[in-house]
This record gives sequence, C-alpha cells and structure tokens, in this order.
Amino acid sequence: QLILAFESSCDETSVAVIENGHKILSNIIATQIKSHQRFGGVVPEVASRHHVEAVLHCTDLALSEAQVTYADLTAVAVTYGPGLVGSLLIGISAAKAIAYAHQLPLIPVNHLAGHIYAAQLVKPLRYPFMALVVSGGHTELVLVPKPDEYHLLGETRDDAAGEAYDKIGRILGINYPAGKAVDQLAHQGHDTFNFPRAMLDEDNYDFSFSGLKSAFINRVHHGDQIGEELNRADLAASFQASVSDVLVGKTLRALVAYPVQQLIIAGGVAANQGLHEKMTVELASKFPEIDLIVPPLRLCGDNAAMIGAAAQIKLDNHDEFADLSLNAAPGLDLI
Ligand code: ATP
Ligand code: MG
Ligand code: FE
Repeated sequence: QLILAFESSCDETSVAVIENGHKILSNIIATQIKSHQRFGGVVPEVASRHHVEAVLHCTDLALSEAQVTYADLTAVAVTYGPGLVGSLLIGISAAKAIAYAHQLPLIPVNHLAGHIYAAQLVKPLRYPFMALVVSGGHTELVLVPKPDEYHLLGETRDDAAGEAYDKIGRILGINYPAGKAVDQLAHQGHDTFNFPRAMLDEDNYDFSFSGLKSAFINRVHHGDQIGEELNRADLAASFQASVSDVLVGKTLRALVAYPVQQLIIAGGVAANQGLHEKMTVELASKFPEIDLIVPPLRLCGDNAAMIGAAAQIKLDNHDEFADLSLNAAPGLDLI
C-alpha cells in the first residue's frame, strides 16, 4: 500500500510517499526558517504564503523521487491539527484536491500521532508502548495500549520543552529555533547554576518549565546588573540538565506504573543529545529490558513521512475516512 502524505502545520511544508506504513520512498521537507528568524518566531501569514508556494512543487518532487504516479496510490493523508490554521489549510486543500481528482480515500491525521508514529519508520512497534512527546508546542507522557489509542498520563502546565529552549536561546543570543544550538553549547559546559527541577518530586506525570525559564532569565539579569561575566556554555548546560532531569525522572516514574517493552521519544526535542544520553543511561540501569526508540533527526522534526506512518495505522484499523468537508482543527488534542 502506498500513502501520499502532507504536513503543513507550522513552518515546514512536507510531502512524503510511504509504503506499507514503514518504508520511506520519499520525504520532501521545505523549511521556511530563514523567513521567520528575523521575527524571532513563526509569523502565521508568512507561513501560509510559503506553504502555498511550496506545496505543489514538494508534491511533484515526492512522487518523482518515490518513482510513483497518482495511479499507484492507495490513499492520501494530511495533518488536520494541531497547528496554525492558515498553514494547516494549505496541506488540507492540496490533499483534498488530489483525493477528489484521483478518487482516493482521504485520511486525516493528528500531528502528535504523527510525531509518535515516526518511530514506526525506525522499527516495528510493540503494544503497549510509552511515548514522551516533546516538541515546540507540546510536552506529554502518553501510554499507547493499542494502535492509535492514547492515554494521556501527564502534560506540561505551562511552556512546552521546545518553547523553553527557544526562549532561553534568545537570552543567549541564539536565533529561533534555538534548541539545536543550545544543545551543542550545553555539551561544552557544566551544570554549575543549579536551576530548579520543577515538579520532579511530585506524585504525578505533569511538567512545568516556566519557573525554570524565569530562574534562567533572572540569573542572567542579575549577572548583568553586577557586571558579572557568566559562562554561556555553563548556563546552557545547567538549563539542559534541569530539563532532561525532569523529563527523564517523570518518564521513569511512569515506566514503574505502566510496564512496557518500548519507550519512544517523539517530536523536535527528541533530537536533543543531552536528553537522549540521560535517558539511555537511566534506562540501562533501571529498565534494561526496555527498548528506547529515538527517530533520526530528520524524522524528529516536522515531516510528512511520520504523517504517512500514522495514516497507515488508521487504514489498518479500517477507520472512517474524511470527506471534502474536512476542516483544520488548530487546537486538536491527541485524545
Ligand atoms: P508541535 O509538534 O507541538 O505542534 P512544532 O511542530 O513547532 O510543535 P517540532 O517541529 O516538533 O515542534 O519541534 C521544534 C522544536 O524542537 C523547537 O522548539 C526546537 O527548538 C526544538 N528542538 C529542535 N532540536 C532540538 C535539540 N537538539 N534540543 C532541544 N530542542 C530542540
Ligand atoms: Mg517546525
Ligand atoms: Fe511538530
């Protein structure tokens, strides 16, 4: 089975062709980061315009790279939320037009399910599994008992992990999106600032990163006021240590309560080396039987291959398809 998948929820226009839910025949990703950087974040109107310009070209590239034609396709899949409404609508319109013109089923996919099922492109998944979803807009611990079923165990009460990286990155003078550069800087420093580990000892699976962000900003301002030269690498390392301590600590707590064979880290922040290293070490010592799956960099960030993978699960489940009334759902939840 061949699925043509679209992803346009934020600032990446992506189109992919996926075979049987796990083999990537093509995964074209056009990023708009350069257009948004000077504004320090994604500008919705600019994003929609770029999606319009890129989507047909990306579709042509995805089909030609996969060496397939519309006639070979089994279905069309598209992210319908969560995300920016104007951005989502471009992918949705393209997917609808193709589904209609070629009489193909149209499969609506939740962007967060896509991030989780990126792992299916790495290896076969065994249920139940645990997913730590860490991205620009979300931080959630999710138990997946069977295909496309999600139990939300906990989530952030304020900022998402990626959002916190982008905000403190700005203080360090790093361009949006700052996660990768902060991660690299952190590897050159040490955890000397002792920032708070919010909610780590609380008996729940929720997160909070706004206190950490404030502690970071206050420490830098205080340093500025008294003319103290703070080590940027140590600041980054201290921030990263706090974030990964909390993410790993809460995940381990969930793994005690909900036994699984696989743990997936999903979303843009899954690319974080510090998090990957700490999770690997802690799992090896406390849950050596659990298999950690972290998708490669290109599949952690927004891409259409993951949407195709999640769509195949819906196809296998014989879920109902969408019709041409499918609309964007900007605030869509996973459950
Ligand atoms: P959502 O998926 O919640 O709708 P989004 O699609 O904008 O949000 P993603 O594209 O999944 O988010 O991830 C982007 C985020 O990942 C950005 O905040 C970015 O700074 C962060 N990020 C990317 N690489 C790293 C890294 N190595 N370390 C930490 N954060 C990172
Ligand atoms: Mg993005
Ligand atoms: Fe995303």
